[in-house]
Amino acid sequence: TDLVRLDAVTKQYESAGPPALDHVDLVVAEGEAVAVMGPSGSGKSTLLNLVAGLDRPTSGSVSVGGTVLNKLSETALAKHRRTGIGIIFQFFHLLDELTARENVVLPAQLAGTGRKAALARADELLDSLGLASRAGAFPAKLSGGERQRVAVARALINRPRLLLADEPTGAVDAAAGQQVMELLRDINRSGQTILLVTHDPELARRCATRIVEVRDGHLRERVAA
Ligand code: ADP
Ligand code: ADP
Repeated sequence: TDLVRLDAVTKQYESAGPPALDHVDLVVAEGEAVAVMGPSGSGKSTLLNLVAGLDRPTSGSVSVGGTVLNKLSETALAKHRRTGIGIIFQFFHLLDELTARENVVLPAQLAGTGRKAALARADELLDSLGLASRAGAFPAKLSGGERQRVAVARALINRPRLLLADEPTGAVDAAAGQQVMELLRDINRSGQTILLVTHDPELARRCATRIVEVRDGHLRERVAA
């Protein structure tokens, strides 16, 4: 079944000039890992933000899990962001004053999960990502790769149907980047649907089951090399 569906999505920012996205269609089926590639400024982040419910299209429709996001109230969109999706960013966006474990627990608590169940799930995730011994560390004491793995755990704690990733290897060194790629591939193989934005061809090739390319607001399937 389709998990993500964009139909004729156009996004025109306030600024004059061509739209950031121009009548884009995209379907992501459950279980896929789709990489969106394309040069800087081509509309990749715009696309991710629309699926995340962080922004709204000018026209066209964006649906996730059968729900059309355009029609949701701000409150319902906020709920979509909290529980329907998990997001990892290039620069981690961890809270510096919280430990790794508390960073991971936070979205579960915001979603109303009881503290005990949230902690148990956080520890299970940290353990499975090889971070059990780092659970009590603050982000400043973690390596870039460890920070990104904590961010992955945080993104998965509410068991979102969709994991979004925006240049997840962009701010870590090569070795850590490899780890993050393997992690994303394993997560996808275990059934997690992933939509990822990157200009790193290796990341796309290693993690994605399908690659699409955005150029000047237009999207096209990339034929496998
Ligand atoms: P990418 O992620 O591929 O680098 P973006 O989606 O960030 O591309 O940007 C696509 C185009 O939209 C660019 O021309 C960018 O300058 C413009 N853009 C992105 N976000 C905004 C915004 N909030 N306001 C105005 N223009 C924006
Ligand atoms: P990324 O590397 O993820 O594409 P950017 O550095 O392009 O991120 O953009 C960071 C933020 O700034 C995004 O939220 C994007 O929407 C916004 N942005 C990008 N281009 C513009 C622009 N021309 N005007 C206003 N905001 C922009």
